[in-house]
Amino acid sequence: MSARTDAAHVVVVGHGMVGHRFVEALTARDDGGRFRVTVLSEEPRPAYDRVALSSFFDGADEAALGLPPLSGTPGVDLRLGVSAVSVDPARQVVVTSDGTSLRYDQLVLATGSYPFVPPVPGHDAPGCFVYRTLDDLEAIRSAAAAAGPALPRPSGEPVTGVVIGGGLLGLEAANALRLLGLAPHVVELAPHLMAVQVDEGGGALLGRLVTDLGVTVHCGSATARVLTDPVSGRVSGVELADGTRIDSEIVVFAAGVRPRDQLARAAGLEAGPRGGVAVDQSCRSVSDPRIWAVGEVAAVDGQVFGLVAPGYAMAETVADRLLDGPATFPGADLSTKLKLLGVDVASFGDAHGRTPGALSVVLNDPVRGAYGKLVVSDDARTLLGGILVGDASRYALLRPLVGSPLPADPAALLAPEGADDLRGSGSGLAALPDSAQICSCNAVTKGALLAAIGDGSATDVPGLKACTRAGTGCGSCVPTLKQLLTSAGVAQSKALCEHFAVSRAELFEIVAGTGIRTFSELVTRHGRGRGCDICKPAVASILASLHTGDHILDGERAALQDTNDRHLANMQRNGTYSVVPRIPGGEITPAKLKVIAEVAEDFGLYTKITGGQRIDLLGARLEELPAIWKRLTDAGFESGHAYGKALRTVKSCVGSTWCRYGVQDSVGLAIELELRYRGLRSPHKLKGGVSGCARECAEARSKDFGIIATEAGWNLYVGGNGGFRPRHAELLVSDVSTRELIAILDRFLMFYIRTADRLQRTAAWIEAMDGGLEHLRSVIVDDSLGICASLEGAMAAHIANYRDEWRAVLDDPGRLAKFASFVNAPDLPDPAISFTVERDQRIPAPARPLLPLEPK
Ligand SMILES: Cc1cc2nc3c(=O)[nH]c(=O)nc-3n(C[C@H](O)[C@H](O)[C@H](O)COP(=O)(O)OP(=O)(O)OC[C@H]3O[C@@H](n4cnc5c(N)ncnc54)[C@H](O)[C@@H]3O)c2cc1C
Repeated sequence: MSARTDAAHVVVVGHGMVGHRFVEALTARDDGGRFRVTVLSEEPRPAYDRVALSSFFDGADEAALGLPPLSGTPGVDLRLGVSAVSVDPARQVVVTSDGTSLRYDQLVLATGSYPFVPPVPGHDAPGCFVYRTLDDLEAIRSAAAAAGPALPRPSGEPVTGVVIGGGLLGLEAANALRLLGLAPHVVELAPHLMAVQVDEGGGALLGRLVTDLGVTVHCGSATARVLTDPVSGRVSGVELADGTRIDSEIVVFAAGVRPRDQLARAAGLEAGPRGGVAVDQSCRSVSDPRIWAVGEVAAVDGQVFGLVAPGYAMAETVADRLLDGPATFPGADLSTKLKLLGVDVASFGDAHGRTPGALSVVLNDPVRGAYGKLVVSDDARTLLGGILVGDASRYALLRPLVGSPLPADPAALLAPEGADDLRGSGSGLAALPDSAQICSCNAVTKGALLAAIGDGSATDVPGLKACTRAGTGCGSCVPTLKQLLTSAGVAQSKALCEHFAVSRAELFEIVAGTGIRTFSELVTRHGRGRGCDICKPAVASILASLHTGDHILDGERAALQDTNDRHLANMQRNGTYSVVPRIPGGEITPAKLKVIAEVAEDFGLYTKITGGQRIDLLGARLEELPAIWKRLTDAGFESGHAYGKALRTVKSCVGSTWCRYGVQDSVGLAIELELRYRGLRSPHKLKGGVSGCARECAEARSKDFGIIATEAGWNLYVGGNGGFRPRHAELLVSDVSTRELIAILDRFLMFYIRTADRLQRTAAWIEAMDGGLEHLRSVIVDDSLGICASLEGAMAAHIANYRDEWRAVLDDPGRLAKFASFVNAPDLPDPAISFTVERDQRIPAPARPLLPLEPK
């Protein structure tokens, strides 16, 4: 509704995230047109998502960061590039930088913060930057380009960039420099990184993970001065208090922020003890009832907040008050979840255990790269807070539990398999009261979400976002929103995730059609935002399926992979890894068996024959993997891809070679197929089997593709699997020749890879297919869609480009360096992995107890 002619004039100073939210909240509720609003924006562009600012270096531009526009909102006058230069509270006038005097009825200060730059000598030399606005980031990008990161110094060292400050912003800035091709150094005064959010143990692991990613960390170090070139006056480096010198053309200050309260102070308004405009619980200035402050510039009862969620709560409070409501600032949840440089960090509730009597349960697993701490009440029943570093996957489920009874023993919740206890129906989300806050950025409760689902206002995640705002802040609650929708029985859209509105199959076609080879290009051109734990591995898999020749750990792809793929090994429950060499068809020579035995003995690995007819070597530490694989690949072994969503094994019986009943050479065919499809990345794992006769000793019908020999050739069955929901494969074609069989299998696998959903096994894929098995047969046998040639061509390309992933790591110093940090760190703290011996082999300690022989 447009403003009345007698509408009161609200002037908002600052069009940042919070000023914007305030205008949205006020205009949405001001049905009677009681107010007209003028917004003064010092920046030349409308408000944008500052929280996501760093995605600028991942390809997001101004448009991608933009917030819903105010232009066109009736009664709102947004003045870009115009600042408030003074306020006269007595006359109720704001003077702007373009010389206008604006009389206000109500004044809302939303001027945010400015970056604090320590006054060290040289801090203002050309080449010094701060990290707050889009303009700052553009300036850093230009300077990095001018510094020529592509051209190493004559010494061969890469060009460095120094970030002063190892907090949240400092690490974001370090990542930015890394993405710009510089070698970042982070200088932090505190003894560990992100001291506000994480404790010493979490900080130590964070430091190690960040160092592994190529960032040099100097903790407990003060910056003495910024060095400058005597001729140009430009930055040439940084000198630390202990005399260390770091050569660098770029210095970014990310040493904290201070409220931008100068305008208010000059107007005589009282400031808080740590700066900021002193306001009461309604966000009204304590000095003047017509002046309000929201966001980072406000000091509510003396406290300033550096996060967006409290700012939003203040904006809502003031909008309500202006409309005669009773709202008060509800306090702030300072929980944070971030992915910094690809490393998960989360901190929530009373993370530092300051509640009297609080107990802390810590699980520190430096080998797995995960640190978890849960702070619980003195009776260990109520969750008070926590810290997660390295793996924050359970943050979305744990944070809403703060203040509630724990669904399981805290140590069990932190254990790798503990997430199940949180997802279980009788605990975790299902057990949360309606008052539990699911979205802390926008203070949305479980009850509000269920109400929106229940009354049909929201039928999917975007709908829930639109009508409750949940998930529109940091986005960490989005998986929980999906869970709520699913548990309420609401059918989900086919969209891959928040960042891609298309299904996995459609995304596959986009990548195939455009030839895009990087996630950042894909998300920029065909998605939105920065990606998440759902789309990143899915895109990694699509890229790997389409470009077999590219290594999965090269370039930005490494950061897309999940933990197992990233280490080319499966992580086990005690944080060690498994090594599974490929043994095609289960056939192995005694000489190769000997090599496996020697490697297992030398590295103390537990050995076990798998159901897929190969040998699991378990208990390897991460840093041992390159040495183990060197021995194995030198002996002719290859990766068995036990860690990947890829072809695993093609199991076989001994077939006609040895068996009296065998009618075909099942071993020969199994080997041929396993070698043909090795390394083939797919939506889920793939298994095959070949039986030499109808007795089916290879259990081929429990595989994604199963082949059973007949007197006349081969029968091909598809869509079987073992596991949680066992399925028998169904007959697709019978009595085909080996050549026909291989052609149909090529098409089957490629059609599956192109069209299945993420993490959909072949059985579920066929079941979900319109027309089911009949349709599948018509497409890949009768070529009803005319795509068989292209499916076969895609498989031929895969086969031509295949290279063993582990050999490719060992042959390339750059790739090997991703593992070298572990190899070269013999002084790593004891990784706290302990073993015990059972049946003459090392197994994790403590061993899991056997069930009692008799029922209780
Ligand atoms: C890189 C980065 C990452 C971040 N990550 C997170 C995160 O993960 N989670 C989180 O909660 N928070 C994060 N933050 C902090 C979050 O962005 C801020 O808390 C939030 O933006 C504060 O909003 P605000 O409107 O109070 O201030 P700002 O967003 O700073 O907006 C204030 C605006 O007012 C303008 N202004 C100032 N003075 C005047 C004047 N006199 N006249 C006119 N205009 C004026 C400024 O130019 C600015 O545009 C991050 C910040 C940065 C920089």
